[in-house]
Amino acid sequence: MGVLSGLEPQNVFYYFEEITKIPHGSGNVAQLSDYLARFAKERGLWCRQDACQNIIMVKEATPGYESEPPVILQGHMDMVAVHRPDDPIDMATEGLKVGIDGDDLYAEGTSLGGDDGIAVAYALALLDADEICHPRLEVVITVDEEVGMDGARQIDLSPLRGRRMINLDSEEEGIFLTSCAGGARVNCLLPCGQTRIWGRSAEISIAGLRGGHSGEEIDKGRGNANSLLGRLLWAVTSRLNVGLVSLDGGLADNAIPREARAVLQVASENLPALEEIVEKTAAEISGELSARDPQVRIAVAGQPEEEAGVFCATPEDTRRIAAFLISAPNGVQAMSADIDGLVETSLNLGILHYAADAENSGEVSAVFSVRSSVDSAKRALIARLQALAALTGGGIQVRGDYPGWQYRAVSPLRDKMTALYERMYGQKPLIRAIHAGLECGLLAAKIPDLDCVSIGPDMKDIHTTEERLSISSTARVWSFLVQLLAQKDPA
Ligand SMILES: [Zn+2]
Repeated sequence: MGVLSGLEPQNVFYYFEEITKIPHGSGNVAQLSDYLARFAKERGLWCRQDACQNIIMVKEATPGYESEPPVILQGHMDMVAVHRPDDPIDMATEGLKVGIDGDDLYAEGTSLGGDDGIAVAYALALLDADEICHPRLEVVITVDEEVGMDGARQIDLSPLRGRRMINLDSEEEGIFLTSCAGGARVNCLLPCGQTRIWGRSAEISIAGLRGGHSGEEIDKGRGNANSLLGRLLWAVTSRLNVGLVSLDGGLADNAIPREARAVLQVASENLPALEEIVEKTAAEISGELSARDPQVRIAVAGQPEEEAGVFCATPEDTRRIAAFLISAPNGVQAMSADIDGLVETSLNLGILHYAADAENSGEVSAVFSVRSSVDSAKRALIARLQALAALTGGGIQVRGDYPGWQYRAVSPLRDKMTALYERMYGQKPLIRAIHAGLECGLLAAKIPDLDCVSIGPDMKDIHTTEERLSISSTARVWSFLVQLLAQKDPA
């Protein structure tokens, strides 16, 4: 007897629990992929497992539904595997300890993987059923969505006949997602000449910012530690000759950085002036952020007491780097003209790194996450970063470029889902777009005229050890799916 065996719909929770027994963090999906391939084989379903371990399974239409348009059901099999620091679990080899808390499912000490295990569980329950009426079902389960969408990037969708796709990777019941942003990771590399400056070091540090997701929280006006550090560096370098020793800020391109620090080498007699400039600029920044980021702390510390000769970037190049950082765009660049309140184009200076080295001249790396629901606007913003980097004698590297998923004015699938939703729930669903990536963009680029909607049951705190999946919402979304599939198109 499974922990979830008393829950309805039984088959959905049965498969969900099966999935939680198989380790399936991103990059570690072979076992789950094989489980899915075996599942298909045992039921005589057409199945393709590709070299990346993506899975496509097909179940033909039930009698009477042969002429209905096929439906693609899509989700990803990998999860963000995180555990509490005090929990000894090895998530690469051990299954999860699922539990029930009121209406919520959770996993003891770890993330649950409702994102996106519930999509896999829905799909398996549908493929396993013989009492549910449906058109030809084409199930696409990708790998490694959470770490760059590599599965969706690589998958060959030529076996699919469907032109309607239901993506099951959303986290709020009652919201139909119909568009998402495209994005790219842009690394600006700015070369520096080296020198040796006799004097003392000063460390400028920024901490205590709130941070957040670079897509969903980019419009909150929170401080970006890397950009603020650029402003402080410009204030200093526009008045004093200093050499940059090191730069360190942020952890990921897609997280708004909460902390950053720079070490500068300065002639001893200029240290008091440097401290005064930083303190004055810091007070201005704190004042500006008092409502949106009240915990910000900016400090400057001269160290050590003795003078020394230290390798650093030349004062000219240090000034150029500061000019780049204070000029580089950051945050919201444009709001959508079509959808109220939606950010259209943005970027986040997520990672900053430099370390002066006696051996080689080195370069500053500034990594941005660029997003836009309009592909040409994304390209223009990348071009702007490229031009700015070129002004400092540098260049850019673009990685992980993925297309956006544009809103379709005409969508028979969305209309059909909306009508059914109104009948079932007595109200209209919210039609939304998000300023973050979904696999729909990559997949839509491979299927001409794809008509797609993304839905899912209520989840909270995904990608954390506090992740929760609502049991009642899971049941409602299941019955919505079952009724949707059973409903024929108007003749
Ligand atoms: Zn997901």
